[in-house]
Amino acid sequence: MRESIRDRLAAIEDRIASACRRAGRERHSVRLIAVSKTHPADAICEAIQAGLTLFGENRVQEFESKRTGLPENIEVHLIGHLQSNKAARAASIFSTIDSVDSLRLLERLNEAAKKINRKLPVLLEVKLSGEEAKTGFDLSGPELQQTLERAPDLRNIHVDGLMTIPPFDDNPETARSCFRRLRELRDDLARRYPQTNLRELSMGMSGDFEIAIEEGSTLVRIGTALFGAREYPAR
Ligand SMILES: *Cc1c(COP(=O)(O)O)cnc(C)c1O
Repeated sequence: MRESIRDRLAAIEDRIASACRRAGRERHSVRLIAVSKTHPADAICEAIQAGLTLFGENRVQEFESKRTGLPENIEVHLIGHLQSNKAARAASIFSTIDSVDSLRLLERLNEAAKKINRKLPVLLEVKLSGEEAKTGFDLSGPELQQTLERAPDLRNIHVDGLMTIPPFDDNPETARSCFRRLRELRDDLARRYPQTNLRELSMGMSGDFEIAIEEGSTLVRIGTALFGAREYPAR
C-alpha cells in the first residue's frame, strides 16, 4: 500500500521540529508550504484532511483548473514564474505571489490588485546562482533596489520578504551557502528599506529544508517528500 500523505506529513513534521530545535528556533516560526503542482485536486483534499492549509502551485492555468474542487479556506501561494500578461488572473486566485522577479511585474500586480480592491502580499525572488535558466532578480543589476524603493508607493501590494531556489547540486553545503546569502541579503535590505517589512525567507525544498531552517527559513516549500514523485514534469 502506498504511504499516505498523513504518514509522510508526520515524518516531515518530526524533521522540521528537530531542525528548529537544533537552530534554537520556535516551531511556529517556520511554515510548511505543501507544493501540490502536477498533483490532482484529490491529493490536495487528502492533504487538507491530514491538516494542511497552505499550498504552493507553480502555474496559473493549472491551479485555475484544480481550484473548483477545493474548499475556499485554504491559502495558495504562486511559487512559479509569472508572466506579466497573467498578472490579473494570478492576483485574483492566489493568496500571495512568492515569485515576483521584476519591477514591471510588481507594478502589474499592483494595478490588478487595485482593480479588485485587495492588498496582495508578495515575495521577491532572487537569483543567487549564475545559471541562466533560473528566474529571479539578478543581483548584479540595480533592479532589486529600484523595486524596493518603489514598493512603498504601490498601495495594493505588500512586499513581505525574499524567496530563492538554489542551484541544483548534490552537495547540501552549496544550498547552505545560498540560504545564508539570502538571509544576509534580507538583513541588509531590511536595514536599508525600513519601510518594508521583509520578514519572510522562502527557502528549502524536499532535499534541503532542514538546512534552510537552520539558516533562517520561515517558509519551506515541500512537494516530493509529501506527495511523492511527480509523474510529469512541471514546466
Ligand atoms: C516544485 C517546487 C518545489 C518543491 O520541490 P520538491 O523538491 O518536490 O520538494 C519548491 N519550490 C519551487 C519553486 C518549486 O517549483
